[in-house]
Amino acid sequence: MKYDVIIVGSGPAGTVTGRFAAESGAKVLIIERRQEIGVPVLCGEGISRKIDNWGMLEGKKWIASTMDGARIYSPDGTMVTLSAELAGNETGYVVHREIFDQELARQAVKAGVKIMLNTNATELLKEKDKIKGVKAKHFDEEFDIEADIVVGADGVESRIGKWAGINTTLKPEDLETCCQYTLTNIDCKDAYCDFYLGKEIAPGGYIWVFPKGEDVANVGIGLLASLSESGMAKKLLDNFISKDPRLKNGSPIRFLAGAVPVSNPVETVRDNLILVGDAARQVDPITGGGLTHCLEGGKIAGETIGKAIENQDFSAELLSEYETGWKEAFGKKIKRNYMVKEIILDMEDKTLNMLADSIKDVKFDEISTLGLIKALVLKHPTLLMKLRPLMKVSKEA
Ligand SMILES: Cc1cc2nc3c(=O)[nH]c(=O)nc-3n(C[C@H](O)[C@H](O)[C@H](O)COP(=O)(O)OP(=O)(O)OC[C@H]3O[C@@H](n4cnc5c(N)ncnc54)[C@H](O)[C@@H]3O)c2cc1C
Repeated sequence: MKYDVIIVGSGPAGTVTGRFAAESGAKVLIIERRQEIGVPVLCGEGISRKIDNWGMLEGKKWIASTMDGARIYSPDGTMVTLSAELAGNETGYVVHREIFDQELARQAVKAGVKIMLNTNATELLKEKDKIKGVKAKHFDEEFDIEADIVVGADGVESRIGKWAGINTTLKPEDLETCCQYTLTNIDCKDAYCDFYLGKEIAPGGYIWVFPKGEDVANVGIGLLASLSESGMAKKLLDNFISKDPRLKNGSPIRFLAGAVPVSNPVETVRDNLILVGDAARQVDPITGGGLTHCLEGGKIAGETIGKAIENQDFSAELLSEYETGWKEAFGKKIKRNYMVKEIILDMEDKTLNMLADSIKDVKFDEISTLGLIKALVLKHPTLLMKLRPLMKVSKEA
């Protein structure tokens, strides 16, 4: 088998890359080890409405509900409300992730991409260190797939990068361990994504409630692996649900457990190789949201691949157009948010409470450093000293 591009993984990063590569003239194969695209779902399913501007998904079947905004609760329950536009990449729509992924795959196939399910990449195919494709296994059948470019879109557990010699190892302090129930028989009439913070609620992470309808929501927790131990995520989540009047009578219709990288991104190109999505660690280190970056990064990757095919140049030098492109689009934000993550981790619950109290009544037109300082000066001037590192980071960004 010989293709221009072999993409490992049919998540959003893989299918969007495939679609834009095919639209740029490349012959593309995606291999996926699962038997159904997007299943099982491993996601809170929140995404910003800015994806409407990108026109990558047709119809509305992938939308479960549309959100008005987000509410963030500090450890003592103080609530800060943000509009959907300001709430970040994870609030706007709550989606049916399996339909979302399958719609992106449909668009890829429409553009000419071929997809093989039940097909596991087992190794990189190399000739004197030059990447020439992948070795794959489809049920009992083993075979080589040759390609000029290999794309690692193989998610958080990515092996493609490692096989190419890129250090993709995640330290426990850069990994969120998560679990989530989809609960029904609950009260979710408000169209808000809720986030609950606090060292006792979710050390190094948060609990989320993302409504999928009036009586259904994804209720999940993410904990920093370095602050967690076996079974802790589920225990804390169960405890939270049992005490929340809206949720305590809920019944689960789905349970999932997974992990999210909250690190800095890795090197994303080598000769004949590109990494995209979670495999490239392109996730927001504060929220753990990765979907919008898969779409943005996948498009840039696909278009760069188109250029490489046109020029028959598969060198890291040409492919680095992709790295420059995604760094411009969202790389600075990831870098800044990684620093902010470290600062927030050092904060006591008391500081988070004071911060929330300072800004709870602010009607944010935009979250500016100046706006934050004004609110703090009015309410808790002593906080200013503690938040100096945060101000410095947001000023630099
Ligand atoms: C609990 C949880 C909640 C989350 N909530 C949100 C949220 O609300 N909003 C948000 O934006 N993000 C969220 N995320 C993150 C989001 O799910 C990821 O950023 C996104 O799925 C990354 O997409 P991807 O295409 O890079 O990888 P994936 O979607 O993980 O796809 C990778 C694919 O590669 C396949 N694969 C892996 N290895 C091989 C191989 N060797 N051969 C063949 N196929 C292979 C896998 O089977 C998989 O289908 C959440 C993650 C978790 C775990």
